[in-house]
Amino acid sequence: MERIDAIFRFVDYVLKGFLMYGVFMVIERLRPAEPNQPLRHLIFNLKWYIVYTLLAFLMNAIGIATLVELISSRLGGAYFVFPQPRNWIETAIGIIIYFLIVDFFYYWIHRFQHTNSFLWEQHKFHHSEVSLNVTSTRRVHWLEEPLILFLLVLPMNVLFHIEPIKAGFLTFIEILWLQFIHANLRLGAGNLSTIIVSPQYHRIHHSFQPEHIDKNYALFFPIWDIIFGSYYHPQKGEFPPTGLTTEETHNNLWVATILPFQGWFKLIKLQSRKPKKIRS
Ligand SMILES: [Zn+2]
Ligand SMILES: [Zn+2]
Repeated sequence: MERIDAIFRFVDYVLKGFLMYGVFMVIERLRPAEPNQPLRHLIFNLKWYIVYTLLAFLMNAIGIATLVELISSRLGGAYFVFPQPRNWIETAIGIIIYFLIVDFFYYWIHRFQHTNSFLWEQHKFHHSEVSLNVTSTRRVHWLEEPLILFLLVLPMNVLFHIEPIKAGFLTFIEILWLQFIHANLRLGAGNLSTIIVSPQYHRIHHSFQPEHIDKNYALFFPIWDIIFGSYYHPQKGEFPPTGLTTEETHNNLWVATILPFQGWFKLIKLQSRKPKKIRS
């Protein structure tokens, strides 16, 4: 019975995800940043979405999410409690503060994913996207699931107490926002580019042009890029092509699945080939 329940939850999750993608795909047609993206790229991402979700469900089944909950409760947890908002303005301020903190943690995880060669091997699949669009949101390696659980969800759980129903709502907003900034939309924030991330801002993060490399890590608020020196101000009409500097697309389910492991193997081999320093 439990197994049937899990299958239903999996199918339900995938269908809801596809439905949200469908809505964005209609919006993307209104003003695409990159018209006529190949359909095969989009279909690959949809197939990957199913693989990713399946593996995420399996990881949860073996207790990764439960372990995170256990560790956060052992660490004390909930040092800060958001006060009950009295009106919609306080609710909006609370949501902004929450995402500002989420983005701070995400900023550093994301920055290390770019600057640490070990973590880059895990993140580069997301950057191998040559047709950036809403379906690229979940085009991340499945190891992202435990990484985010341990480095983002865990510290947030330790710091804050948020009721499950509110946490569910915040997660929904987060997914929606991530889909929006990956959307193939010719849409920037104009004068508000230093205040809020836009599809143009995140497209620049995915660009392989030298001036865009390792820029614009933030997902919600560019303030973290501005403070920590990785801000690139999007120019008017600047919607660069995306992907890795090489022609690698990794649009193959097996290749994508084992990609970081191959990279790590090469890194270890390289390390072992380096000549050992001779002590004087
Ligand atoms: Zn990145
Ligand atoms: Zn992205």
